[in-house]
Amino acid sequence: MARGPRGPAGDLFDVTDRRASDRVPGGNMHRRKHVPQAGTSRLRIGRRAARLGVAAAVLSGLASGCGRGTDDTPTAPLNVIVVTLDALRADYLGTCGNPRGVSPELDAFAGRSTHFVNAVTAIATTFPSHSTVFTGVYPRLHGVRWNGHRLRDQWVTLAEVLSEHGYDTAAMVSYRSMVNRGGLGQGFATLSDSTQDDGPRIRDGAETTAMAVDWLGQRDPSSPFFLWLHLFEPHSPYPLTPYAAEHLGDYDGLFADGAGVLEIASLRDPETQLPEDMAALRTLYAGGVLTCDLLFGRFLDSLEKMGLRENTLVLVAADHGEMLGEHGDLGHGPLFWEDVLVVPLFIAHPEGLPGLAAERAGLVDVMATVLDCLDLPIPDASQGRSLLPAILGDVLPPRVYYAEARVPSQVSHKDRDYAESESVAAWRLDSKLILGDAGARVYDLAVDPGESQPQTEDGTSALAELARIHRTGGHVEPDVELDDETLEELRALGYVD
Ligand SMILES: [Zn+2]
Repeated sequence: MARGPRGPAGDLFDVTDRRASDRVPGGNMHRRKHVPQAGTSRLRIGRRAARLGVAAAVLSGLASGCGRGTDDTPTAPLNVIVVTLDALRADYLGTCGNPRGVSPELDAFAGRSTHFVNAVTAIATTFPSHSTVFTGVYPRLHGVRWNGHRLRDQWVTLAEVLSEHGYDTAAMVSYRSMVNRGGLGQGFATLSDSTQDDGPRIRDGAETTAMAVDWLGQRDPSSPFFLWLHLFEPHSPYPLTPYAAEHLGDYDGLFADGAGVLEIASLRDPETQLPEDMAALRTLYAGGVLTCDLLFGRFLDSLEKMGLRENTLVLVAADHGEMLGEHGDLGHGPLFWEDVLVVPLFIAHPEGLPGLAAERAGLVDVMATVLDCLDLPIPDASQGRSLLPAILGDVLPPRVYYAEARVPSQVSHKDRDYAESESVAAWRLDSKLILGDAGARVYDLAVDPGESQPQTEDGTSALAELARIHRTGGHVEPDVELDDETLEELRALGYVD
């Protein structure tokens, strides 16, 4: 096996000559893109009833806050690791029903975690989505709407809060400019990339992971730590991995040697998409997912060897998904399909109750959840909520979540002068509404998870009004009477007192 790029830890993360046949097929064989929220209590009560003793102990511990013993004896603060896996579709994981078997490590981790199966991103673009993860506010408020935008210093980040409370902090990212040009390095004492240089825009995940392990091994263990690890392997372009080479069969088409950005772009017109090319594209993408999965698994193995699994909160999420020909679309960005907006979200809490949590959740909740798990105050600006009750086995009340996109009126993203139309998606239970200049459309995800049957919407429903307020930044007076439930939603987001 070839050596890794950064010394001994690099060996652990070299996956270049791993074969897909080395892996254990994961997950069940049933495709499930959407779990109805009505099933929330059914999904969790079985496990909860079977573990009443555990739940009672957990609830007892809750009274004195996370990270404390039930006898009020302070224990060591939880360490925190947030892992973001770029462009990882939820439904490519075995734990979500995908039969390819390319996610054995993530599936195993999901089995030990609270798995939020209806979690959504706030936007299907990398910098803005991560900015929401680490501030707890929607892009419309923090202002990072494109990858070229910088998160302003005025926003209090999760790293800044934890740093103030004595945490040793580090960000090890593969999309290197996120932490310097993008402003997401705020609050991190150690950065993978502190300056803009001439290196490659994207770092290999093996190197990023090795850097994270090296940092964990060399830091002073007397203080708790917060580590952000970001892997880019599922993101385009999709190289020809051993998995893809093995599964492409006798395919000899456009993507026979991998899928570069230009080749993928050449298929943006649905009428030119050949079925065999689309199948090859999905196989290549799956290879990237498997590589990412292997890196993640070996990172967890390293945590285990360092004795860091016991007292560490580990949160794993994707920043968005990826279109692979569904609805004729490719990639991500200004899109509202569930394939790009629903993301994996796994939270492994040392006192948590593993299982599926079907209530709607969002990446906007990450900051509030982490701080609540550490018994630290949540900033007033936060628009997310703590998911800790669900992690401990309770059921969260329904809540409206939003996603946004600025849709260019011209095709080229490189043209900075293009006009834009702004659109918003909003979910309430199984209803998903998309509001844009052309009006509103609604999907009932319980009966139409593939979003093939949009229903007409005259724009006067409470959900449409919430979406309209979110779309305009919450600065306009609503022009319809709002019911109590709607007002409560607005209060939760800080739009009304
Ligand atoms: Zn991304």
